[in-house]
Amino acid sequence: MMREWEKNIRTVEPYVPGEQPKAANVIKLNTNENPYPPTPKAVEAAKALDFDRLRLYPDPEAADLVNVIADHYGMNCNQVFVGVGSDDVISMCFMTFFNGNKPILFPNITYSFYSVWADLYRIPYETPALNDKFEIVPEDYYKENGGVIFPNPNAPTAKYMELSAVEDIIKHNQDVVVIIDEAYIDFGGQSAIDFVNKYENVLVVQTFSKSRSMAGMRIGYAFGNEKLIKALNDVKYSFNSYTMNVTSLAYGVEAVKDDAYFKECIGKIIETREYSAKRLTELGFTYPESKANFIFATHQSVPAEQIFTALKERNIYVRYFKKPLIDNYLRITIGTKEQMDKLFEALSEIVGA
Ligand code: PMP
Repeated sequence: MMREWEKNIRTVEPYVPGEQPKAANVIKLNTNENPYPPTPKAVEAAKALDFDRLRLYPDPEAADLVNVIADHYGMNCNQVFVGVGSDDVISMCFMTFFNGNKPILFPNITYSFYSVWADLYRIPYETPALNDKFEIVPEDYYKENGGVIFPNPNAPTAKYMELSAVEDIIKHNQDVVVIIDEAYIDFGGQSAIDFVNKYENVLVVQTFSKSRSMAGMRIGYAFGNEKLIKALNDVKYSFNSYTMNVTSLAYGVEAVKDDAYFKECIGKIIETREYSAKRLTELGFTYPESKANFIFATHQSVPAEQIFTALKERNIYVRYFKKPLIDNYLRITIGTKEQMDKLFEALSEIVGA
C-alpha cells in the first residue's frame, strides 16, 4: 500500500549520464570529454590558491569569471550568467523561462536531458522530428509554443545547423525564449552569440567541459540580454546563491585567458576528427558530417549494440543509446590520435574489415 507521504514524492525518470569506468587502462570515448589536459596555467592558479580562502563562501556573483568571459567574447558582464556546468545553466533556464501552458519545442533526437528537465519542472513539450539526414527542420518550429531549445551542433548526431537556419527559427519565435545550446560549437561551427545583441529573447549557452578540458570543474555559462540574465540570477539567488566554488572560479579564469592553448587543443581534435572520419569510412561506417568532438556512426552490416559490447570487452568505451531511431548508432568521442588508432584496430577485428 502506498503511504500518504509517498504520494507527495516528486518522481522523475532520471537522466542517465555516460559510464565513468573505474579501471585505469580504459580508452574512454563515451562522454565527449577532451583528451587533453586543461591549460597548465590552471596549475599555477591552483598553487596560488590560499587554502584558508576555503573557510569563506565564494563570491556569489562569480565576478572574476563573469568578467573574463564577458571580455573574451566582447559582451557586457550583465549579459553573462555562469553556473555549475551548462547542465546547471540550462536547468535554471527551464525553471526561469518555460512557465507557460504551451509546449516547449526541441528535436526528437537531441540531448536527452531536455525531456528530463521538462518532466521535472512539469513543462509540457513537443519534439519535432529531425529529417532523414538528421537535420532540424526550421519550419517545424514556426508553430505556437512556450519556448524553444536545441543544441548546435546537435547531440548525439554532431550535425551543425547554419546560422541562417538558426536565425530563421529565432525570427519565427519572437514571443518566447529561444535557447541555443552550444556545448560543441568550438569544434568548427559558428556561434550564434551575435544574435544576443540583435534579439532580446535569445540565450546562447556554452561550457568549459568540452573545448576547455574542464568537465571535472563544472563550469557553464550563458549569454543573453541583461533582462534575461537578471531573471536567471534572481532564480539562482532564490535557489542557491553559491553555485560556483572557489576552485572552479580560479581555474575557470585561467582557462579563458589561455586562448593559445585552447586553440591548439581544438586544432588537434579537429584534425583527429577528420582522420577518424576517413578511417571509419574505410571500415564500412557512415555518419552525418561532424562539427563536434564526436562522430555518430552506424555500420553497414554489424549492429551497433554488438560493436559496443565487443569494444567494452576490449576496455574501449563508446556511447550507445538503446532508443528508437538511433539504436543502430554509436557516438564516438574524438580522443588522441593514439587512442583512435587503438579503436580502429579493435573495430577492424570486430567488423572484419
Ligand atoms: N548540452 C549538451 C548538448 C551536452 O551534450 C552536454 C554534455 N553532456 C551538456 C549540455 C552539459 O555539459 P556540462 O554540464 O558538462 O557543461
